[in-house]
Amino acid sequence: MSRSKHLWWQEMTLPELQHFAKEVSDIAILPIGATEQHGPHSPNGVDLFNAKYMAQEIAKKTDVMLLPPLPYGSHPYHHWYMPGTIPLSYDTHIALLVDIIKGASVSGFNKFIIFSAHGQVSTTLVAVHKLGLEGHFTLSTHWYDFLRDDKDVLDDYMWHAEEAETSVGLYLYPQYIDMSKADEGGGEALIDSKYIIAPGQMPEPGMMYHFEGTFARPEYKELDNGIIGDARNATREKGEAMVTRVVDHMVDILDDIKARWPIGTKPPVK
Ligand SMILES: [Zn+2]
Repeated sequence: MSRSKHLWWQEMTLPELQHFAKEVSDIAILPIGATEQHGPHSPNGVDLFNAKYMAQEIAKKTDVMLLPPLPYGSHPYHHWYMPGTIPLSYDTHIALLVDIIKGASVSGFNKFIIFSAHGQVSTTLVAVHKLGLEGHFTLSTHWYDFLRDDKDVLDDYMWHAEEAETSVGLYLYPQYIDMSKADEGGGEALIDSKYIIAPGQMPEPGMMYHFEGTFARPEYKELDNGIIGDARNATREKGEAMVTRVVDHMVDILDDIKARWPIGTKPPVK
């Protein structure tokens, strides 16, 4: 088994790709981001950059294939009509995910990981089960699932364009971040926030995930600066700690899948 000189599907020829699936790894990661405003201090591509760069680190450590990253994501109702944000409808996004993985499977890949750096569980979960019915082994992973209750690193729970996302930007693509414009943002839930699980929060009994209800006013009416949380306490060091933790957890999952289902075997989903 030899390391590939390329990490990404789009950089390979077909013979290189087929050799990879047969001899190096038949696991492929689909990094998915979004195109979404991230306040006055961070670029609209935060979620795409985070998915792409973290997936690249994961692939370097595990020798798995990287599918071309998806720059558009699905968004809950309250993100729609916000300038800077380009949402795909749920139906479109689910169909894209299913088609991409079905398409990739005929090249010899048997295990798929959707790696999301944006809150789009609502569509990845549906896609995973549609794919399961067709016999495809697919995991839906969201980066904040690996950072729950991460008070070692962060002062507050993760939300949007705040401490967490800005810290990761300072670590991975500081050239696009302007901390002189970092600020605190708004956002008040329509029910008591004690019932809502923030993206980076450990759930407690009786709480609902942030995507389980129409808990929010439309962003274009409510958010002055596009930030939910506080971006001012972001640091490069926090970003490095978060990325390291996510990458290590993903490497752990991939090692487990490789040990259980060696190259050339398909987990018996169907
Ligand atoms: Zn984001």
